Amino acid sequence: MQPPSDVEISDIRNIGIIAHIDAGKTTTTERILYYTGKEHRMGSVDEGTTVTDYLEEERRRGITITAAATSCFWRGKMINIIDTPGHVDFTAEVERALRVLDGAVVIFDAVEGVEAQSETVWRQADRYRVPRIAFANKMDRVGASFERTVESMRERLGVLPLPVQMPWGAESSFKGVFDLVRRRALLFPEEELGARVEEVEIPDEHRDEVELRREELVERLADLDDVILEKFLEGEDPSPEELLAALRRVTVAFKGVPLFVGSALRNKGVQPLLDGIVDLLPSPLDVPPVRGINPKTGKEEERRPDPSEPLAALAFKIIFHPTGDLTFLRVYSGTLKQGMRLFNPRTGKFERVSQIYRMHADRREAMKQVRAGDIVAVTGFKLTATGDTVCNEAKKIILEKMHFPQTLVSMAVEPETNAERERLELALATIAREDPTFRYAYDEETGQLIVSGMGELHLEIIANRLVNEFKVRMRTGEPRVSYRESIRKTAEEWGEFAQILGGKPHFGRVRLRLEPDRSRLEPVFSNEVRDQMLSRELLKAIEEGALSAAQSGVLAAYPSINLRITLTGFEYREGETTAPACMAAASAAYRAAFLAGEPVLLEPLMAFEITTPEEYLGAIINDLNRRRATIGEMLEGHASSRIIRGTVPLSEMFGYATAVRSLSQGRASYVLEAHTYQEIPEDRAKKILLV
Ligand code: GDP
Repeated sequence: MQPPSDVEISDIRNIGIIAHIDAGKTTTTERILYYTGKEHRMGSVDEGTTVTDYLEEERRRGITITAAATSCFWRGKMINIIDTPGHVDFTAEVERALRVLDGAVVIFDAVEGVEAQSETVWRQADRYRVPRIAFANKMDRVGASFERTVESMRERLGVLPLPVQMPWGAESSFKGVFDLVRRRALLFPEEELGARVEEVEIPDEHRDEVELRREELVERLADLDDVILEKFLEGEDPSPEELLAALRRVTVAFKGVPLFVGSALRNKGVQPLLDGIVDLLPSPLDVPPVRGINPKTGKEEERRPDPSEPLAALAFKIIFHPTGDLTFLRVYSGTLKQGMRLFNPRTGKFERVSQIYRMHADRREAMKQVRAGDIVAVTGFKLTATGDTVCNEAKKIILEKMHFPQTLVSMAVEPETNAERERLELALATIAREDPTFRYAYDEETGQLIVSGMGELHLEIIANRLVNEFKVRMRTGEPRVSYRESIRKTAEEWGEFAQILGGKPHFGRVRLRLEPDRSRLEPVFSNEVRDQMLSRELLKAIEEGALSAAQSGVLAAYPSINLRITLTGFEYREGETTAPACMAAASAAYRAAFLAGEPVLLEPLMAFEITTPEEYLGAIINDLNRRRATIGEMLEGHASSRIIRGTVPLSEMFGYATAVRSLSQGRASYVLEAHTYQEIPEDRAKKILLV
């Protein structure tokens, strides 16, 4: 059975699977692709379900499920699974993924409950208003507790968990799940790798508890939903259909979070979770229309998921491919057709859609067209970068620009030979187009190529890609913190440029005021000079000169932050004042004012959260104190674990993964998140400026 090529919008579910690292996201995704692939091929293939077959499948899929979006079918609905990276180094990538999906499955480890990082991703999903269902995974593990997972959702996330299932047994005697909505017991026979779901009556000894939990579910829903309330008041038992409809309304309205249970590794509970995705998570029609800015008017506009409207799509991921890069698009409105010419308002250029692909676990399917609400990969785009909008030229729009944070860590890369340099630069340009949290530049003083990103791991992965994927022979330096520069007080200085170039005089003279402003990260430029001779072209050159001087830094080539730049003086000479000279003058004025403004070096300060068994608490805190950390609060975790929160300079946290492992025999875990920038103590700053 081939999937219908053109899927009804109401039958699409664009979802992400988000989880703390190790909670079981990969395993669950693999099972989902396995079971949906199976249903899909049902009847057409002789199912020789030997374990080797399965492993072979898994191995093949292991490669493909890293695709940015994978489509699969379940009960006639199409599920697009959008990849969301789990490591906190990739927070921006998580945010980007959250931006394009309509719903999410959040996986918790039933032994650990809600962990620090699950909390981080949960808050991100809140910010993007993503409706969620949850899955308590690893019920087969020693120490697994469904009740505690429910409790930790309530306590740590402050949400209302709505268990729609109950585990049948736990730990090594975890057998299957009880479906509270339909009052059934579900088993997943291991000899078929759980591919068949066996429905049986609920055994007598569990019936009372299932009834009790079902009543609790109905009561909670009655509080949240009028239809169920009415039934409840009339003393009627709501039907499974009524309960599911109410659960869906409640989920989409963020009033509660349906909770499923199982063990992905033991092949238990995955199909009911798929049912949950289809039954409870929204289709693109159930979420508010996307908003963006009309670049002509600067006003906000909406785009509805209507195939007959002008096209608007967001490029949310670009994957480099030797035979043509794949650009992943979420189509928000209109119909995307092969051969179409689309406009990119950022570059001001057109892009042509050569091929449209729906990416499946094991193949890609070429499509002639897809409609609003869908997520696909296209080839043929040349200049579009991650985060760009492509649209119909007559109805231009820039969909909410995603916010990408400042880079935190940088590292020198050195090609082994000069011949390698070109290849390296090309590779870096490609990676930067794919990944907006990655930057690279030449250090003006040393001439070294410096790459920067969100963390040690981020740069490590990029270095591996350069070597393995792009075949660049190179050396890398030690990763270092990306410092920032700023000033303590307001200062104002003139800058001048006067030279004869190519026989012609070039003159520029401008005055800039720099003011510290902690309320903004990126420097901003404004103009106070009213002078007829200050043309738009000259003003633009001055702005460019000032901002690029701010970007290249004055003290030690680190970008400046937390300041405002204002043009306060301008001198004009007929026939001599030129744009390049004004640009150079602005750069000189910037440097002079910066040095007069009590310059300071800033370092990224990270917020941390460490979860550790109590016995290692002392050692971990001692170590944190040596790292200049400020301990904020300490909380009780589950069992005898403790949670420590606070802030610490990033420069002290290199190699922390290894350190914390050895301090706690591998039992503590931690999350680091960019928090703010702080001044570096003077003696340390001196050392940094010397090297
Ligand atoms: P991810 O980091 O969230 O993608 O997690 P993985 O799917 O890679 O799983 C992390 C580890 O947990 C692996 O060793 C899995 O085999 C294991 N795991 C995943 N699901 C289960 C489960 O249901 N039960 C048990 N006991 N282990 C599991």
